[in-house]
Amino acid sequence: MQSVDPAHTYGADPVVTGTPVVAGLAYGPVIRPGDRPEPDLGDAATIPEDDRDAEKERLAAAADTVAGRLTERASRSSGAAAEVLAATAGLAKDRGWLGAAGKLIGDGTPAPAAAAAATEQFVEMFTKVGGLMAERVTDLKDVRDRVVAELLGLPEPGIPTPDVPSILCADDLAPADTAGLDPGRIIALATRLGGPSSHTAIIARQLGIPCVVAIADLDQVPTGATAFVDGGLGTVGVNPDAEAVSAAARAAAELAERAAAWRGPGRTADGHEVLILANVADGASARSAAEPGVLEGVGLFRTELAFLDRADEPSVADQAELYREVIDAFPGQKVVIRTLDAGSDKPLKFVDHRDEANPAMGVRGNRIIALHPEIREHQLDALAQAAEGDRATPWVMAPMIATVAEAREFAGQVRARGMIPGVMVEVPSAAIQADKILAEVDFVSIGTNDLTQYTMAADRMSPELASLTDPWQPAVLSLIERVGAAGAAQGKQVGVCGEAAADPLLACVLVGLGVTSLSAAAKAGPAVGLQLGSVTLDQCRAAAAAATAADSAQAARDAARTALRN
Ligand code: PEP
Ligand code: MG
Repeated sequence: MQSVDPAHTYGADPVVTGTPVVAGLAYGPVIRPGDRPEPDLGDAATIPEDDRDAEKERLAAAADTVAGRLTERASRSSGAAAEVLAATAGLAKDRGWLGAAGKLIGDGTPAPAAAAAATEQFVEMFTKVGGLMAERVTDLKDVRDRVVAELLGLPEPGIPTPDVPSILCADDLAPADTAGLDPGRIIALATRLGGPSSHTAIIARQLGIPCVVAIADLDQVPTGATAFVDGGLGTVGVNPDAEAVSAAARAAAELAERAAAWRGPGRTADGHEVLILANVADGASARSAAEPGVLEGVGLFRTELAFLDRADEPSVADQAELYREVIDAFPGQKVVIRTLDAGSDKPLKFVDHRDEANPAMGVRGNRIIALHPEIREHQLDALAQAAEGDRATPWVMAPMIATVAEAREFAGQVRARGMIPGVMVEVPSAAIQADKILAEVDFVSIGTNDLTQYTMAADRMSPELASLTDPWQPAVLSLIERVGAAGAAQGKQVGVCGEAAADPLLACVLVGLGVTSLSAAAKAGPAVGLQLGSVTLDQCRAAAAAATAADSAQAARDAARTALRN
């Protein structure tokens, strides 16, 4: 376990550490999700033949009830929470899963055991596929538990609703649970598993509650004990000194209030401008990010997310309509649109991805033009169409660029349509050759999620590797420094649009490394803006130098914090 500055442990014992995800300090009693039902799988064929059809109907009815409840909760939620709930409801109605369970019931297996066994088959399949599919294993198990509880007449499993504001500790959280959380009652999240891009992390960011993931020793934090969660330092401490920790929690809450009241434009205390932008997935998320006077545009529109369920390539007109919605959410402001980042963890049905042993390093992102050059042409045509009229000119960038030639070819196609070309820097080769790549395009945006994954050779989805997939790794910072210097030398914009841009402390380091815009979940922007406004550019530069020179991610955080205090 790493050492923690005693000034930040408030006399707690033990203090366990993990990967910090959402900054903030919360203090309260620890709760854990309720027990999940364990159906008896021992006895296979016990349902008499005459009753098997009725048993199948019982399963279908239970699945229907569960899907209905989740859909109803989705209709009361919004944004990512609603999407997660709707997707989980979809799993409960999945024909493949119901069919597999129905077949087992046909052989005489009771419905609860059949639901569990069918889930196992799908878990195995999803795990083998890996990436985003593997991430859905938690959802599958969650649906199973809900359906089994319904069949057994047990209460719906999941998160209890506490009477007092509480800290939720769990191995991992099912998306359907986290999506329904009330931030007034669940004031912090701490999990043993899950990486910085897990569902838990995404929802915590959306709710704006402190969150730490990948805490190997979380078992040392007993249910019912009083604890604190420091989402900035990545610590959870048991039985802290009440007075000291409440004072610190009050200060953290005041900071959160000040962040909520923050208004753009983004700039350091001495007036150095930094654009603070939003990452969006469609028109709805763009409109909800567009609170007047707060964020100054879109730094990353992940277009592939809008098409994950499409069997066929959307027409140019359909695409143009969608892109127009996003452009219109920020009239006259900067809108950066990324061409399809299909493949790996985001396969698209209309791109016939081949089976690959190592899809994260396979035909993904810009590389799909090797299979389907026309898909990119159509998308660029649609973007140009979307921008017609007096709309602002879109900034268009390609994902997964690894060579200068790829950047040159992309830039040519974008310029030919009158738009502003850029590329993402998320492959180390692009960072190393940033000067040559920047000479070909008008801007770059650093995707720190993938840049970290590829620099550290650590799968960004792996909970075991969360300490490696940490953008504070000094090797990653060194690559960003190289890109920032190339951007400054050529007078071109260097953005960051990975999750690193959501961390207020790291944002200062990034600005010190020469980054000119920061784009992340819209909710994260104000805290980043507030923090930047409290430091000077020289302090950011000093923090950047200290963090880059550090020999570990934790040492980089500590060094940056110290430099910013001076
Ligand atoms: C990134 O890799 O940091 C990025 C922004 O792209 P995505 O998360 O969509 O892969
Ligand atoms: Mg990426």
